[in-house]
Amino acid sequence: MCAPVKTLAILGATGSVGRSTLDLVEREPGRWRVRALSADTSARELAAQAIRTRAEIAVVADESAYADLKDALNGSGIEAAAGAQALADAADADIVMAAIVGAAGLRPTLKAVQRGATVAIANKETLVCAGELVRAAAAASGARLLPVDSEHNAIYQCFDFDHPERIARVILTCSGGPFREATTEQMRAMTPAQAVKHPVWSMGGKISVDSATLMNKGLELIEAWHLFPVSADQLSVLIHPQSVVHSMVEYVDGSTLAQLGTPDMRIPIAYALAWPDRMATPCERLDLAKIARLDFSEPDPARFPALGLAWAALRAGGAATNTLNAANEIAVAAFLAGRIGFLDIAATVEETLNAEAAQPMFSLEDVIAIDTAARVRARAVIERRSR
Ligand code: NAD
Ligand code: MG
Repeated sequence: MCAPVKTLAILGATGSVGRSTLDLVEREPGRWRVRALSADTSARELAAQAIRTRAEIAVVADESAYADLKDALNGSGIEAAAGAQALADAADADIVMAAIVGAAGLRPTLKAVQRGATVAIANKETLVCAGELVRAAAAASGARLLPVDSEHNAIYQCFDFDHPERIARVILTCSGGPFREATTEQMRAMTPAQAVKHPVWSMGGKISVDSATLMNKGLELIEAWHLFPVSADQLSVLIHPQSVVHSMVEYVDGSTLAQLGTPDMRIPIAYALAWPDRMATPCERLDLAKIARLDFSEPDPARFPALGLAWAALRAGGAATNTLNAANEIAVAAFLAGRIGFLDIAATVEETLNAEAAQPMFSLEDVIAIDTAARVRARAVIERRSR
């Protein structure tokens, strides 16, 4: 007898990772049964995706988009829903792709983990804000977390989970972003359009700005600490502009294992979707002779203070990484809206971190309270800086 077809929910289906996921799903009709797709406000695109994939339910997080969604799904037989509870209910499938951006993904992702799903986790902010909670929920429910972030997916493929004591170091690679060679003075004048223009990866706006400040790598250090049984001292970052080596695991005997591939998110997404199997993808193959050289260098902490802030928050533990994330989300949104300059992003995060007391977090309510307080503080910092 054939195994039953696995059900799939994609949270954040209209985003960069969500669209790439659907691209793969639509190439293999019948391999998954799409239970739910979600978006924030893009009702029309979401409805079109739901109709194409014969989804059971489409959910918009923003209730003001519900009428549009219902209208676009009229006659399709697909259920339309809206709001936070509907989003949490939608995170119910064998495989849940967590691809919402920011802390907004926390509740539905945690719900999927609590239900014991296989969670393909792109939404790194969930782990940065509430990694302890997510890990405890996974341990209790038996949920499997499969990292989609390309670095963590690479590490996952190279990491010997049965013998973590054999691992000496985990090395996250980092493209360096669009301002890799810029001076601090040049960065001061950088516009949102310049910051979102990533040299290698095509991604959503928020993560593109995070890649320009290197906060993305900072969030990824924290993400790695939650996903892999290593200490903070065993984590390191290496600038690698070609983004071919997606990360590395060094063993105690001096062997280093790496995962390589062209910079196309469909490769790690395919790994998570098909796990423990593999699936074919249309992604360009690696032609190392054509690439000819791979460069590596140390990151510059003076030009990219966000990385140091993330290290400090990781070492402080408790609420600090949650505060770091919330302040960063507010600062990135203010930068994209033209209210603050590029260098103000890290400065806002630093000021917010210094002002908020470190405290432990025991529940989702604690996480949300700390997130809310940090956002209020970060907005006040920005208010002052933009005067
Ligand atoms: P994106 O901005 O392109 O898409 C975000 C998705 O989340 C959209 O579907 C949007 O409708 C939805 N969304 C936004 N705000 C929401 C809210 N308040 N409530 C509910 N839904 C909301 O983002 P992306 O680039 O696809 O990134 C998604 C996540 O994956 C992020 O956490 C990012 O760090 C991570 N990630 C992305 C990439 C990439 O290549 N894009 C790579 C690695 C990790
Ligand atoms: Mg990444």
